[in-house]
Amino acid sequence: MIEFACSCAMKKHKAPIEGWEISSGAINKIPEILKDYHKIYVVADENTYAAAGEKVVEVLKACGKHLRTLVLDGEVVLPNCETLGKIILNANDTAAKPNIFSYSPLPDFILAVGSGTVNDSCRLASYRLNLPYGVVATAPSMDGYASAGTPFLFNGSKATVQATTPRYIIADLDVLKDAPYEMMLAGIGDMFGKYTGMLDWELARDYVGEYFCDKIGQDVIAAANKCLENGYKLEARDKDCIKAIMEGFLVTGLGMAYTGNSRPASGAEHIVAHAWELHDVEHGRLPHLHGLEVCEATRLIAIMYKMLYKETKDAHLKALIEKYLPYFDAVEEFCIRMQVPPTVTDRQVVVDGIHRALIMRDRYTILFYLRDQGKFEEYAEKAADQLLALYQ
Ligand SMILES: [Zn+2]
Ligand SMILES: [Zn+2]
Repeated sequence: MIEFACSCAMKKHKAPIEGWEISSGAINKIPEILKDYHKIYVVADENTYAAAGEKVVEVLKACGKHLRTLVLDGEVVLPNCETLGKIILNANDTAAKPNIFSYSPLPDFILAVGSGTVNDSCRLASYRLNLPYGVVATAPSMDGYASAGTPFLFNGSKATVQATTPRYIIADLDVLKDAPYEMMLAGIGDMFGKYTGMLDWELARDYVGEYFCDKIGQDVIAAANKCLENGYKLEARDKDCIKAIMEGFLVTGLGMAYTGNSRPASGAEHIVAHAWELHDVEHGRLPHLHGLEVCEATRLIAIMYKMLYKETKDAHLKALIEKYLPYFDAVEEFCIRMQVPPTVTDRQVVVDGIHRALIMRDRYTILFYLRDQGKFEEYAEKAADQLLALYQ
């Protein structure tokens, strides 16, 4: 448990995380990091097992802490009942006992090896079994490592359900540097979303009196800046760059735990990205990488803020947006120079996503502000045009 005093209205922040290790060779430190656990259940999929799982199991076996391993097969892009069932039931274990809570024997720790579905599924299994869990990251691809909610595929749609946060986050830079390039781009794109997210949070503080923490807000911006500064080294798979992204996820994840709220990680850009993602899921398509959706939505929301900056007569709002303009420009320049691929290029899908985002979540963002000003429809149309013009 991390705890510290703060000058914000909460006065104190706590996070149930016990520790993290982001370094080259981090996997070798697992016995020391997990010294309090002795029956560790490793869950991976075929890709993550090859990338890191095998090594993790080897290290755990060498110190006598390994209980069993489950390697999920097939492609699962979002956690579903089947994946969760496999993790919890371990039905292929021939020595399993009849009572699920006493089977063969119960692990005292679940260790997820993977960044997406594996981690999300273990997070949920951990919550339902009331067992602590940790994650060995295999790609710096998205900011959900430390989240307390998990996406879940159900009845052909996607919902976010309550889960638990990891006790430990272990990121071995020697593993992460070999992650698919697009996943790394997605990771940095997810961090760019913090700029629009923080501006939305400040907007909510000033226009509807929402709670805001200065320290957490500043930490998140500093973490995003570090990603921007190091981001151009991504092509060379530079370890400092990958470290900056992983640390960014940690800062935002901790921020969510500290505030009990996802504000430190997301604003309108995440809601629009989710709307686009849902559109794909509901049409039977695999969703794009979360971070790439968020990156595109960040560019869109930044366009909306820039339009508002030009038009508004509200001096306070102007000053608020002005602070973020250099970040928005830097993100746009990065996306063009690094050729970050767009995920949605159909104008109607872009516009529909903005409309859906407005009603999808009761969270005050620029979308709510524009709605209250009677400018929502106009901005949605114009911003979509400007966004798509960037891809010409
Ligand atoms: Zn605070
Ligand atoms: Zn995200």
